Amino acid sequence: MKQSPAVTSNVRSPSYLTLMRIYRRTIRSFSMSDNAIELLNKHINTETILSNIKNPALVVGISGKVARVNNRCSKLLPELVEGMNLSDVFSEKGVFGSFTQMIRHGLSVSGLHPCNITRKSPEKSNQSRFLGYFAMLRSQITHRPIAILVHVDEQNSKRERFIRLQQALSQRVSVLRQLHKDGLHDPLTKLKNRRFMDSFLAMECDLNKRQLQQGSLAVIDIDYFKHVNDTFGHTTGDRVIKIVADVIRERLRESDVSCRWGGEEFAVYLHNTTGVDAITLAEELRILVQSKKIVEQGKTIRITVSLGITTITHNDTPTSLFSRADSALYKAKQQGRNQVYIEFS
Ligand code: GH3
Ligand code: MG
Ligand code: MG
Repeated sequence: MKQSPAVTSNVRSPSYLTLMRIYRRTIRSFSMSDNAIELLNKHINTETILSNIKNPALVVGISGKVARVNNRCSKLLPELVEGMNLSDVFSEKGVFGSFTQMIRHGLSVSGLHPCNITRKSPEKSNQSRFLGYFAMLRSQITHRPIAILVHVDEQNSKRERFIRLQQALSQRVSVLRQLHKDGLHDPLTKLKNRRFMDSFLAMECDLNKRQLQQGSLAVIDIDYFKHVNDTFGHTTGDRVIKIVADVIRERLRESDVSCRWGGEEFAVYLHNTTGVDAITLAEELRILVQSKKIVEQGKTIRITVSLGITTITHNDTPTSLFSRADSALYKAKQQGRNQVYIEFS
């Protein structure tokens, strides 16, 4: 004797088959009627149900027609119009693959189910994916399932927007950081640039007026650098500039600030350093540079630097401070180069 499928199959239980029959019958009656929504509203009081829900929510007949949308949902998903098919503007891509599958699942398994509502035309809005959950609604007359109540997780959509905002923000921060880095550093030597030193000296002069902290400024210039360029070329010249910058960087303390002032010239601000201490440090730098052997095209290049030093006073402006150090440098050059000269304030 042929067994009924209801006995042999675990999946297609009699209740499932019954439900599917109800589903088809109900769909037919609800979708074929012009006033399907009106009919559905006779079976369940969608207005009362939705008025008790604060989050965005909607009722969809099991035919897939949108029966009612609450205000919050209309704001969030303005394209949802009562009477339209949910699948006209949205699809269920995440959990079930289609709204039909989603409704079938709701018919066979009771309780709340997660779902994923995706806009079909995402270009209309920034947000295209909404997570939510749904539950089956039964007719208050026949007690048969006739609609689903869908909650759209606004928190989740806010969270997604927040994440996107955060991503955009961190992107902007890294761009700004890069700009900041490029804007204040000399690309060849990676020392600070003149723009930075200008602002730094302005700040130091201002602080000095109030605190009378000691500090010295040294201006360093490579001697006869033009000759290096002329003999070995500009690329070698650049290498030499970089080597001198490395010597300065390696010798200075964390608290000192050095920059490439321009061309083959550097400026170094020494915090809490008296003129005498600055001379000692400048001498060290001079000897370190002098002892560098730079081999280029089989030849050894020897370079020297001249250094002009001055100490900061409470009357100083960045211009007066720098021009005193620069005039000390001029004296060092005049006196034969490869030496340190200090101009006291
Ligand atoms: P002094 O001892 O009097 O300082 O003589 P000098 O030759 O070093 O000074 P001068 O001012 O006559 O020449 C500096 C040269 O530095 C001229 C310029 O072409 C070169 N220069 C400036 N900036 C750069 C740079 O970025 N790279 C290279 N390779 N050369 C540069
Ligand atoms: Mg020079
Ligand atoms: Mg120069």
